Amino acid sequence: DSKDYDREVETVCPYCGVGCQISLKVKDDKILYAEGIDGPANENRLCVKGRFGFDYIHHPHRLTKPLIRREDAPAKGLNVEPGNWHEFFREATWDEALDAAANGLAKLRDDDGRRVAGFGSAKCSNEEAYLFQKMIRQGFGHNNVDHCTRLCHASSVAALMENVGSGAVTATFNEIENADVAIAIGCNPIENHPVAATYFKQFTKRGGKLIVMDPRGQGMKRFASHMLQFRAGSDVSMLNAIMNVIVEENLYDQQYIEAFTENWTAMKEHLKGFPPEEMEKICGIPAETLRDVARTFATAKSAMIFWGMGVSQHIHGTDNSRCLIALALMCGQVGRPGSGLHPLRGQNNVQGASDAGLIPMFLPDYQSVTDDGVRSAFTDVWKSGDFSNEKGLTVVEIMDAIHDGQIKGMYILGENPAMSDPDVDHARDALAKLEHLVVQDIFLTETANYADVILPSSAWYEKTGTVTNTNRQVQMGRPAVPSPGDAKEDWWIEVELAKRLGLDWNYTHPKEVFAEMKLNMKSFDNITWDRLETTAVTYPSLSPEDPGQPIVFGDGFPRSEGRARFAPASVIPPAEFPDEEYPFILITGRQLEHWHTGSMTRRASVLDAVEPEANCSLHPRTLRELGVAPGDYIKLSTRRGTVTVMARADRAVAEKNVFLPFAYVEAAANILTNSALDPYGKIPEFKFSAVRVEKA
Ligand code: SF4
Repeated sequence: DSKDYDREVETVCPYCGVGCQISLKVKDDKILYAEGIDGPANENRLCVKGRFGFDYIHHPHRLTKPLIRREDAPAKGLNVEPGNWHEFFREATWDEALDAAANGLAKLRDDDGRRVAGFGSAKCSNEEAYLFQKMIRQGFGHNNVDHCTRLCHASSVAALMENVGSGAVTATFNEIENADVAIAIGCNPIENHPVAATYFKQFTKRGGKLIVMDPRGQGMKRFASHMLQFRAGSDVSMLNAIMNVIVEENLYDQQYIEAFTENWTAMKEHLKGFPPEEMEKICGIPAETLRDVARTFATAKSAMIFWGMGVSQHIHGTDNSRCLIALALMCGQVGRPGSGLHPLRGQNNVQGASDAGLIPMFLPDYQSVTDDGVRSAFTDVWKSGDFSNEKGLTVVEIMDAIHDGQIKGMYILGENPAMSDPDVDHARDALAKLEHLVVQDIFLTETANYADVILPSSAWYEKTGTVTNTNRQVQMGRPAVPSPGDAKEDWWIEVELAKRLGLDWNYTHPKEVFAEMKLNMKSFDNITWDRLETTAVTYPSLSPEDPGQPIVFGDGFPRSEGRARFAPASVIPPAEFPDEEYPFILITGRQLEHWHTGSMTRRASVLDAVEPEANCSLHPRTLRELGVAPGDYIKLSTRRGTVTVMARADRAVAEKNVFLPFAYVEAAANILTNSALDPYGKIPEFKFSAVRVEKA
């Protein structure tokens, strides 16, 4: 045997919502390499991030000791780096740091609990997400708790909750193997959900028709039967035109509509106002193409719709999702093999963190905080007094509330709002104003620049806990290596902090937390910690032996009378439009090698070597008109700020559009983005800002 490792550990990839199962080969407490194993979502496959993106956990920048801000430290917000952190912080024992963290938050709470807010993390386990929301609610008496779902699929969840009664996918992405038509809109799976993309490719190889809709002509275009490169921000006009054709040509499924839906008459009437010839002028897609797509989708035996943040990150993100839901419903494409609605989730555990109640309007399993019965079911289990029945503030609203003086303290676990929030200078100014900020993370993130106390936590590959992927599959994460120095698992830190806030928490292992979650989460019925030790389970699971239901809502929806609802949507323009001063359109997003704000992947040696520098992409003709050569530096300016970044030529980007990844601190995309919010999902419009482009 030529094994070069001394143990192998099976766990789940920490990056995207696909949730690939992975085997880590470990020697002398170092991960040597990673291989895909036979998980339900990946069947042995991995992408470049899973395969090569693990060595950030051994990076010398890892936080290994609790830190407390020095009394004589320079102003908050200055760049704290591994070389200069001593000027800002001093090392502390855990007791000292936890006391300082808890005392600062308790002092603000004791005047008025609402002064404190919390951001939990979609990169932590289900148990850690549950504990975080419980601490804010039980410890501070309100619901000012949120996480990155607000920046990702909050509008999709708002539309799904409203119209089908559940925020999760109706079918796993693997169901595409039973479909004959699929729409992929506003998502770029080859870069952002690469293993899911392999299933999409197989689907087209066996003759499935893939309809790609995206303002960027991205990688899936090569596999598409139809590529609709519509104008950015014009989703509703395009989708309503497609539905108009389905109505005009009587291609809808009357039987399904009568059996399982409501509000069809109003929807049908509304759609009359969106003829393809008129909508072509808005979305830029020829009327005949819209007709062809409508006929292709409506006459499919089985069809699925996948979407990503190109759909959700608009001030009309909820309307975009309402249209997609309506399209599937009118064609009866929910609840059967090869049919369904699937918003592709971003973070590895954004589904689980949302399910666990890390959101300001819902307790675990999307139970409303405004429902007295629901709240008392939780306080019975928690054995403590009541908490507010008012919905809490969301991510961007919390930053505004800091500026207004309403919020004065925050506990931020594993989120990096100093990079990820829209109009990030506004967010950074807010963080600097806080009287007390506790940051818990694995690195000195940009957000840690503003911290009063920094608590060093374990990375995903160093801890135990369950996660839930985009497919509703609950899987077990296992530690492969010990945490460096004094770093601790997030659940342990949460428990110690809660005790110091006066809460009677005695958990000694995440499985005790999981057992408590089950008491008020029906989605976990028949799913036990012991089962998850040996296998992944898809919720809902109908019996202790049932591996779970990949498809739901075949016999009705969790709404009144079991009926889904049609929600008509009108065309709403983006919050700001290109003009003489800012004539181009800026679209931000991810790229294959880097993950979100870059704190992990820019410290992963292979990934950073492949994409070492901030870059943006423009159409070659646009570059020529600007007198810019590929590789030159350009200045991008919006009403919020300016960044300088290297330009690449990319024919996939529409003319007069700029695509800018948000992973690079040296050209932070969110200095430029607009914080205007969708009124329902409260998600910002990351996918559309008016921008000026100049040679640097
Ligand atoms: Fe990890 Fe997602 Fe890549 Fe799978 S597809 S290896 S979960 S980043």
